[in-house]
Amino acid sequence: MESYIKLSTLNDFIFCPKSIYYHTLYDSYEKKLYQDEVQIAWTIAHETIDNKIYSTSKYILQWLDVYSENFKISWKIDIFNTKTWELIERKNQVHRDENNKEKIYTWYKYQLRWQMFCLEELWYHIKKISLYSMKDNKKYPIYKPDNKWLIKFQNLLEEYRRFNPNTKKWSQNTSKCMKCIYRELCDYYIWEVYPQLHLFE
Ligand code: SF4
Repeated sequence: MESYIKLSTLNDFIFCPKSIYYHTLYDSYEKKLYQDEVQIAWTIAHETIDNKIYSTSKYILQWLDVYSENFKISWKIDIFNTKTWELIERKNQVHRDENNKEKIYTWYKYQLRWQMFCLEELWYHIKKISLYSMKDNKKYPIYKPDNKWLIKFQNLLEEYRRFNPNTKKWSQNTSKCMKCIYRELCDYYIWEVYPQLHLFE
């Protein structure tokens, strides 16, 4: 049976396809041992949801396991209000650029639309999807995907399923490897990147 792709592994795949192997290995570890500062902030922001203490209202669905048969994807929803039919993904803070425009990363859209696809297959009607910035209490609407985006999304899932690092000589940008939380396990970092960095010591 074809396995379902988890949202968290797709995130790693976009950063570096090879990292999905290490992601699986780290899955059984205590998260704080390997997460970087940004990820830890994200985890803290989600702790109330993980513990289901965001709201006790019956119409608020939180941290519910969902999956999509069409796309063969799975994950959890952050918050879904069944009264307003609004799907919300919380962030510690949505930052702004030098022109004071909010930075809505592509990845944020992936997260919300991913949850939306799964919920819709459960027959929930989604009226709007929003990003919520917790620190400054602001909400940003995210638009539903158009056909062009859908094709890109399906291609990305296809690429994920087909990926095999052994089919060609592997290479990756050194600065990415330096930031990678899996580098201590990665053979490419150990044999290619690390020796280069210490060549002149
Ligand atoms: S260390 Fe580099 S090659 Fe290895 S998984 Fe991380 S980013 Fe990819």
